[in-house]
Amino acid sequence: ARLREHQIRRTKTVCTYCGVGCSFEMWTKGRKILKVEPTPEGPANQISTCVKGKFGWDYVNSEERLTQPLIRRGDHFVEASWEEALGFVAKKIAEIKDHSGPDALGFISSSKCTNEESYLMQKLARQVVGTNNVDNCSRYCQSPATMGLFRTVGVGGDSGSISDIASADMVLIIGSNTAESHPVIATRVKRAHKLFGQKLAVVDLRRHEMAERADLFISPKPGTDLVLLSAVTKYLIDNDLYAKSFVEENTLGFDQYVKSLEPFSLDYASEVCGLDISSIISLAEMISSSSSLAVLWAMGVTQHQRGSDTSTAISNLLLVTGNYAKKGCGAYPLRGHNNVQGASDFGSMPNNLPGYQSVDDQEVRERFEAAWGVELPKTKGLDNHEMVDAIYEGKLRGLYLIGEDMGLVDSNASFVHGAFEKLDLFVVQDIFFSDTAAYADVILPASPSLEKEGTFTNTERRIQKINQVLSPLGQSRPDWQIICDLASALGAKWNYETPAEIMDEAAMLTPIFAGVSYDHLEGFSSLQWPVAKDGTDTPVLFLDGFGFEDKKARLWPLVYEGVSEEPDDEYDLHLNNGRLLEHFHEGNMTYKTQGIKERTPSTFVEVSTELAKERGVKDGSLVRLVSRRGAVKVRAVVTDRVQGKQLYMPMNSSSNEQAINVLTSSHTDVATHTPAYKELAVKMEVLEKE
Ligand code: SF4
Repeated sequence: ARLREHQIRRTKTVCTYCGVGCSFEMWTKGRKILKVEPTPEGPANQISTCVKGKFGWDYVNSEERLTQPLIRRGDHFVEASWEEALGFVAKKIAEIKDHSGPDALGFISSSKCTNEESYLMQKLARQVVGTNNVDNCSRYCQSPATMGLFRTVGVGGDSGSISDIASADMVLIIGSNTAESHPVIATRVKRAHKLFGQKLAVVDLRRHEMAERADLFISPKPGTDLVLLSAVTKYLIDNDLYAKSFVEENTLGFDQYVKSLEPFSLDYASEVCGLDISSIISLAEMISSSSSLAVLWAMGVTQHQRGSDTSTAISNLLLVTGNYAKKGCGAYPLRGHNNVQGASDFGSMPNNLPGYQSVDDQEVRERFEAAWGVELPKTKGLDNHEMVDAIYEGKLRGLYLIGEDMGLVDSNASFVHGAFEKLDLFVVQDIFFSDTAAYADVILPASPSLEKEGTFTNTERRIQKINQVLSPLGQSRPDWQIICDLASALGAKWNYETPAEIMDEAAMLTPIFAGVSYDHLEGFSSLQWPVAKDGTDTPVLFLDGFGFEDKKARLWPLVYEGVSEEPDDEYDLHLNNGRLLEHFHEGNMTYKTQGIKERTPSTFVEVSTELAKERGVKDGSLVRLVSRRGAVKVRAVVTDRVQGKQLYMPMNSSSNEQAINVLTSSHTDVATHTPAYKELAVKMEVLEKE
C-alpha cells in the first residue's frame, strides 16, 4: 500500500550496510528521511550507529534509481512493462532448460536481500527450475570462516552475542579493520579496553586504529597468519598452558592434531612470518594468562588461498584454550554485508538447503520434496566462482543475479566481464544501473531495504525484522515479489501474500528456525538461531555440546602451503585492500549519498613513508598500479599505517577504472572458492614525482 505523504512516521528498521545489524527508528515525511534514531532497545547497538547507518540513506531517493524494467535491444535498453520483462525472462529460462537442462541455469542471491528473498531464490532454482546452481555473495567474503567453524565446532556462526564481547578478558582481532568495517562492535571493544582493562591484541598488516590502541600489535608477512596461530597453539600445548580437561572432555582428534603441529616451531614461524620469536611468545602468554578469549576476524583472514584453513586454525586455538561454550569468549567471524549470515542460512548455497541441510541427505530432500511437490536435484550445484568457469565452458547459459555488482566485486574483473558477454540470458535485478547491469539482457528494478518488509540476520545469528519505511519508487518492487512473479510466469503455484508466510514455510522445514515467526519479531524483538519450537533462542552456542551428533568438537590438522601470488622482481609490492568507514563495499549506495561522497570523494592508495622516500612519491602524487591482470591510476596517501613494500587500497571506488578488481587474480580459497583478493602483487609507476 502507498504510504501517506504528509504525515511524520516513525518506523523501526535495520541498517542495510554491515553485519553488526544496528536497528533504529527512522523518521520520515513522505519520501524525506528526517532522522535516524537508535534506541536502547536495539539489541546489537543500543544507542550507537556509525556514519553510514546515521546518514547513509540519500541513495534511496537518488535520481539514478532504476524505476522501470529494461530489455536490451541491440546495444541499448528500452523500457518494458513488468509483464513483458518477466514474460521474456520466463520464456528464455524455459528455452534454455528445454535445450540444455536445468543445470545450464544459475541463480545468485544477494547478501543485501532479506532472509525471505534468499529462501525464495533457492526455492525458485530448486523447485521451479530443478537445479542446485544457487549461491549468494557471501562467497566473496565469509564462506571460509563458515567452513573453518563447520570443520571444528559444527555450526557456522558467531558463537556468542555482540554484547558478550565486552565481558571477554581478552580480545584478539585478526585480519579485521574493525573500527572502519564494523564500527559499533569496535566501539564496544574500545570501551571495554579503556574502561574495564580488557586485554587487546591485534594481528594485521596495517597499523589501523585498533592496532594503535592494542596492548600487543603483531604484523606478520602477508598470508602467514595460519603459521602464527599454529605456532602459538603449539607453544601453549608444549608448555602445558592449554585447557587439558576441556580438550579431553569436549574434543576429538587431539593426538593427530598435536602431530600436525610439529612443523610449527617458534623458529619456523619466526622465519615464515617475519616476526621476532618474542612477539609470538608474547601473544601466546597473553592468551594463556586470560580467563576468556574472543577472537574477531574478517576478510584479512578469509580472502586468501588458505582462508578456510586459517579460520580453522583460529577455531583450533579456541578449542585448545577452552574458549567455547561459555559467555564472553569464542569465535566471532564478523560478517560483512547486513545479511551475509542470512543469505546462506536460508539456503542460497549450492550444497545446502535452508538451515545448512545438505542437498545429498535423502531424509532432508524428502522433507522438502513433500512440501514442494517435486523431486529435487541430489548433487551439489555450482558456486559463484564455478558458474563463471562454467559459462566459459559453455555449460552455463543463463544467469539470474540479484543485488550484486558482480562485475565490480568479483576478482579479476575483465575475466568476469568476458563471461557475461557469453551468456544467452543475463538477468540483473538491482536498485541501480551498475557496471554489471550494462551486460544484462533484462534489468529488473528492485526496492532497497527501506521499501520492503522482511528479516535480516546479523553477525551474531540474530534475526531482526525490517518494516516498510517508504513506498517502492516508480515501478520498482521488493525482490520477493519479483521472484514470486517470475515463479508464476514459469508455471509455479506460489501464493505468498506477505513475507511472514515465507518465513512460516522456512521455519516449518528447517529445524534451526523451528520457532521463528513474525509474532516474536515485532518492534525491537529478535531471535538468535537456533530457535526451538517454543520460541527459545540461543544467545550462546554449544552450552549443550558442539554441533555434531556426538556433541564433540573436532581438532582439525593443518599444513601451510604458502600463498597464490607474492611479490617478485617485477611485481615487487604487496597490495592489500579493504573497507573505509564512510563507504560500503563497491560504493554503489554510499557514492550516491551526497554528504558521504563529499567527505570521501574517491579512492586512493596508501604508501609507506620509507617506500615513498625511495620512489619519490609525495602525498597526493598520481601513481599507476599494475598487476598481471590490469592497471589503475590513483592518488597516493603517504602514511605509517602501512610498512615497507606493502600498499593498501580501499575496495570502494567511484569509478570502474579505479576498481581494485581490475588488478586481482582468479585464485581462490581452496575449500570454498572465495577469491584470494588479499594475495596480490603489483608494481607502482610514479606519474607525478616529488
Ligand atoms: Fe551499524 Fe554497521 Fe550500519 Fe554502521 S554500517 S550503523 S555499524 S550496521
